Amino acid sequence: MTGSRLGVTHSVVLILAFSAGLAHAQEEDFESVEIGTIEVAQGLYMLTGSGGNIGVSAGEDGVFLIDDQYAPLTEKIKQAVAEISPEPIRFLLNTHWHGDHTGGNENLGEAGVVIVAHENVRARMSTEQLLEFFGSRVPPSPHVALPVVTFSEAVTFYFNGEQIHVAHFPPAHTDGDSVIHFRQANVIHTGDLFTYQQYPFIDVAAGGSIEGMIAGAKRLLSIVNEDTQLIPGHGPLGNRSRLQEFHDLLVTIRDRIVAGVELGQSVDEIVQTEPAREFDSKWGQKFLSSEQFVRLVHASLY
Ligand SMILES: [Zn+2]
Ligand SMILES: [Zn+2]
Repeated sequence: MTGSRLGVTHSVVLILAFSAGLAHAQEEDFESVEIGTIEVAQGLYMLTGSGGNIGVSAGEDGVFLIDDQYAPLTEKIKQAVAEISPEPIRFLLNTHWHGDHTGGNENLGEAGVVIVAHENVRARMSTEQLLEFFGSRVPPSPHVALPVVTFSEAVTFYFNGEQIHVAHFPPAHTDGDSVIHFRQANVIHTGDLFTYQQYPFIDVAAGGSIEGMIAGAKRLLSIVNEDTQLIPGHGPLGNRSRLQEFHDLLVTIRDRIVAGVELGQSVDEIVQTEPAREFDSKWGQKFLSSEQFVRLVHASLY
């Protein structure tokens, strides 16, 4: 979702478009979407387009993909991958169940790519899901789109000369979040545990919470060093200082909302005090507005 601050009526449209996006994005116009390729390290790339950032490891063992945006973009994504490497896509790792990260699963599953994810990703994709905040329902995914390999804690791929370590984090954005660490290259794909220049969505109905997001950001901070490059779920390539900024934003907004509640304020009254004021211009213009984010965090807490 892009676009600047919108009026009330348009916000409703934006929300509907977003929830449709999480589900299918069938309404969106993908003709004009271009897939951008950014080289992050030797043999490692971030692909941009519409939906979550894609991670690519390409080398002699083949191609390892992290997330796959939306189904109508699969051909463009395959083309972008083919320009990086002539090798086939062998594995697809889903960072979590949302449709802006798993929309291409059906196409890639049909093409024989082995899909891997946390067990809760498969469980949620297998059944109808309610996106409470957006008031929409997401139908179950077809069989071929489901992960065929699942794990509960962690799994490591020895691939393209790398140790690709995939770790499940306790519920934060959802209850099936994974973080993918390319240890030699010192690159981490965070999924939606970290977004930059846009507030993160927190899927409370799927076990997510603001406390989990803060704990997740803290744990990521304990793993990264000054040279680590972070592929965020959404937004430009990140690093330790951007992750710290994200963590501090979450803590600041959470603390202000808690303080308001302790004063006996309602959520509407808290919104009036603008708990996200200094973050609005940088973080509240692309996806969730500051008000939506404050309401989301409040809903996660109370
Ligand atoms: Zn996302
Ligand atoms: Zn997500």
